[in-house]
Amino acid sequence: MSSLSGDSAVIIGTAGHIDHGKTTLVRALTGTDCDRLDEEKRRGITIVLGFASLALPCGRPAGIVDVPGHEKFVRTMVAGAGGVDVALLVVSAEEGVMPQTREAVSHSQAAGVPIIIAVNKMDRPDAQPDKVMNELAALGLTPEDWGGESIYVPTSAITGQGIETLLESVLLTAEVLELSANPEIPAEGVVLEAKLDRGRGVVANVLVRDGSLEAGDYVVAGTAWGRVRAMTDDRGKSVKVAGPATPVEVLGLDQMPEAGDKLYKVTDAKKAQEVAEGNREKAKTPKVAAPRTLEQIQAMMQSGDQHELKLVVKTDVHGSLEALNKSLEELSTEKVRVSVIHGGVGGITERDVMLASASDGIIIGFNTRPMGKANSMAKKEGVDIRSYNVIYEALNDVKAAMAGLLAPKLVEKDVGQAEVRETFGIPKIGTIAGCMVTDGKILRSGR
Ligand code: GDP
Repeated sequence: MSSLSGDSAVIIGTAGHIDHGKTTLVRALTGTDCDRLDEEKRRGITIVLGFASLALPCGRPAGIVDVPGHEKFVRTMVAGAGGVDVALLVVSAEEGVMPQTREAVSHSQAAGVPIIIAVNKMDRPDAQPDKVMNELAALGLTPEDWGGESIYVPTSAITGQGIETLLESVLLTAEVLELSANPEIPAEGVVLEAKLDRGRGVVANVLVRDGSLEAGDYVVAGTAWGRVRAMTDDRGKSVKVAGPATPVEVLGLDQMPEAGDKLYKVTDAKKAQEVAEGNREKAKTPKVAAPRTLEQIQAMMQSGDQHELKLVVKTDVHGSLEALNKSLEELSTEKVRVSVIHGGVGGITERDVMLASASDGIIIGFNTRPMGKANSMAKKEGVDIRSYNVIYEALNDVKAAMAGLLAPKLVEKDVGQAEVRETFGIPKIGTIAGCMVTDGKILRSGR
């Protein structure tokens, strides 16, 4: 749908746990059998963002961004304001809240994006919508019926139950946001995905947010620039003009932009090149990380600049997560609020680091460690990861930081990483782990 009506444009990002029905619901919402979505799904994670256009009641244009890979949703949210206006959280009424549901909620909340909840699979005999609402209310999404502000719509992507109501809810939310777009102004969009195609060169999936993008326009997207050689819509049809809220595939950029880069129309080739080259220079200079260690936050709190301490908490088991979250939040004082923006069980992942980075928070690990590239990413992003084995110590540190009394911390230095390949028990000795060193070195004296 190429919308040139001047109505406001809403971009909806679908989120939720795998197999809860995001893709099926998008298909039901768009009212068409969007072959492309299926095809992308089959190809799995290689295709990053499937997209479809959606006509809302009253002819308001909307773009729906279906995100088959949860990681990509997280990245789109972290990319910030350019991407998504409303998060459509799909939760199976059978399964309820799952880890990726929790993460999607945390990320949407951190990005300040309103969440509409589709309690899906209502046609299933063991659907328990109340359980879903209870679990989500605990994450701060109190249903309207219970005196809160969150919109819940019971749906079935299979029978079509609730689809109309869901569309209306989206419209309502859009109205509250007072989003507006003007097709007459130069185009502004956001890159959802880019790939290099052998025959066609750089192919960028762009969501036009405002204005109109035309074939032949000069554009800049991050460090890339070019002239729009051709555009195709979400059905693979060639289009000459793309108005607000239209997702299009754009050919003609000179290099790969990054997902989340804003795309602008500029007057001519010279200007486009100039801006892109400026961005390339900027990209070369290392970013100065914002202050994000507990010590730095302590200094900011003392100077009165910071009044909230945001924490991402990861623990080994559920019991300690609940206990730790509660005790940490209870440390809040009149001056400084402690908020756990995300809590989960398991290792500290790159997504946790992304969330902490996007919201200027720190990560508290209890009996759990950074996994994969989380550590190196934390270093790059300047995110403080603090690991503890005793709850009391974690609480003490946070309390001390709030009071401005943080003692110099024992620094844990990563010297290497090993992967456990197999474990076997030996009587009297205990469990022996057969490991492969994957990074750095392992020292006999190391912990
Ligand atoms: P996604 O991973 O969240 O995109 O989930 P899919 O849309 O691929 O759906 C996963 C499975 O659940 C598929 O087999 C769908 O047919 C099924 N499904 C999705 N929505 C519903 C629903 O409302 N009711 C029922 N019974 N099945 C559904």
